[in-house]
Amino acid sequence: MRENTIYLEKEFEEKYTYTGKDLGCNYSKERVYFRVYAPTAESVILNLYKDGLEGEAFEQKEMKKDQQGTYVAELTGDFHGVYYTYTAEISGKKQESVDPYARAVGANGKRGMIVDLSLTNPEGFTTEKRPQKVHPVDAVLYELHVRDFSMDDSSGMDYQGKFLAFTQEKTINEDGLYTGVAHLKELGVTHVHILPAFDYGSVDETKLHIPQYNWGYDPMNYNVPEGSYSTDPFHGEVRIREFKKMVQALHKQGICVVMDVVYNHVFDAELFCYQKLVPDYFFRKDENDQFTDASACGNETASNHLMVRKYMVDSLCYWAEEYHIDGFRFDLMAVHDITTMNEIRKALNEIDEDILLYGEGWTADDSPLPKEERALKKYTYRMPGIASFSDDLRDAIKGSVFEEEEKGFVSGEPGLEDMIKFGVTGAVGHSSLFQLKNSKEETVVPWAKEPSQCVNYTSCHDNYTLWDKLVISNPECDKEEIKEMNKLAAAIVFTSQGIPFLHAGEELLRSKPDKTMEYGYRDNSYNSSDEINSIKWSTKKENLDMFRYYQGLIAFRKSNSALRLRSKEQIEEAIIFRDKEPGLVAYEIKTKEEELFVIYNGSNRERQITLPAGEFEVYINKDKAGTTALSKESGQVTVAKVSAMVLKKCV
Ligand code: CA
Repeated sequence: MRENTIYLEKEFEEKYTYTGKDLGCNYSKERVYFRVYAPTAESVILNLYKDGLEGEAFEQKEMKKDQQGTYVAELTGDFHGVYYTYTAEISGKKQESVDPYARAVGANGKRGMIVDLSLTNPEGFTTEKRPQKVHPVDAVLYELHVRDFSMDDSSGMDYQGKFLAFTQEKTINEDGLYTGVAHLKELGVTHVHILPAFDYGSVDETKLHIPQYNWGYDPMNYNVPEGSYSTDPFHGEVRIREFKKMVQALHKQGICVVMDVVYNHVFDAELFCYQKLVPDYFFRKDENDQFTDASACGNETASNHLMVRKYMVDSLCYWAEEYHIDGFRFDLMAVHDITTMNEIRKALNEIDEDILLYGEGWTADDSPLPKEERALKKYTYRMPGIASFSDDLRDAIKGSVFEEEEKGFVSGEPGLEDMIKFGVTGAVGHSSLFQLKNSKEETVVPWAKEPSQCVNYTSCHDNYTLWDKLVISNPECDKEEIKEMNKLAAAIVFTSQGIPFLHAGEELLRSKPDKTMEYGYRDNSYNSSDEINSIKWSTKKENLDMFRYYQGLIAFRKSNSALRLRSKEQIEEAIIFRDKEPGLVAYEIKTKEEELFVIYNGSNRERQITLPAGEFEVYINKDKAGTTALSKESGQVTVAKVSAMVLKKCV
């Protein structure tokens, strides 16, 4: 498959690449001017509306052709709150479109709104800062859907399903246990990673009285918050203010905010603004003039086209600066090209080098973008300062997400010890590991240059929850046995080098039961009900032991720098793996500051392990995890079946 477009030709690029910073609507109290990229348009008209959704334009203004394929228009006076669109005429066909750079929109994102952003700042917002400097490997990421967080009645939160639910500091469930933000703080996570919260298309914002649900991987307006998460989607400024209040409230609790960004495809290619303004510029097409589909969502964007690349860079910088966003997670990152990802890193470094960047290093289908240009996981080392998800560790822990019944290391599957070790190194590899093969017999080579380029996890919003996957793939096991596997899975993630990540509610044994499904559980619940998706805070009491275990793992990780090594060299030097034994992984981590001994027993029997010389204290075992020593050991230790044990040498 090859990309078929005139837009990649040098001549087009030289003539029509606009490099200025003023695309979109540039507001001041005295005047407002607009600049839009529409190089193939014969004319562009600016339409002004009183309302964000209905009514005729009260004014239309012909825009002036300006440099590098852009059109401009200017209005004198204060136009805050006025809605606008562009109508471009191309080959005699007129189409009305929202501004790709719109910073505010009316309900359902059909019209842009001219906005005085200074009026959208909550009190104290302009001076508030990112909570603290966080090295990527010191982060603990918590992946959460805005609506799931607060929709269940047991949440004890007002503003159910809204950004504002994050502004409530001390909410509790009926047992008096913390829910919401207080729960996150209690758990110890450093970053909340929110599923798409820019304006997406699959929820009708004018019918919010009817329950509607979507994960939100269907972008409409990239530079505007989603309206259904606000208390009033009809007035463009409200969702902006409420999103900022969410960020401010999380920052106040010391928690950073990561946005899930979905630049790889749009909700509907033909309806997308750029498709109307510059037909076929924003997307890749094949020899037969069909949209290609690396996203498996009907279209794929073209980051290799210079103005799309610029669009992504501008959009990310805008979120980082205007909304104080602390990190971005790239959906299907490999649909984008490596050059674009590196440009993004460079641009965000100008704002703050601590902004975290990570993504899915794969596509969902084939792309005309040459493989060696794709931001694939295997090329992560070519993208300094950007991390990829380690599906290697994920699938080694619990079995492939694509094979329901496949088991993993924690459920007793043999032969995965080396893949677990590879995960432990944060995908930088180790001289003691070579000729690695995963469960599909594919060769695995180190893909991260530094541990900060690897995100370790065992579950996320996609596929089954960790609990459901373990239940499905281990039908012979009872609840207590599945809990042992869950604890071991979590212990592996939080003791591995790299960046740990957990799916919201994993610590409460989150489950999505659904009798209509073959296995009794819903996997990709992107448009399921709140009943299936919401976090059930009422389950916290019965799962308090699991919650405490996750809390303890996070606390132990934070207090031991040996679990957060900064470089490949340090990992090579500090980690000494024990020889291979079926179902067992054991290793020492020796640094100047501390000496740890880590054991993962994935087998269904007790194991005796000989410790290195000296006295050790146990901090993590099958039942407990934390910063308080549980027992003292030397010589040989007994490790319970299906459990982790982490010991620290006494000084
Ligand atoms: Ca929307």
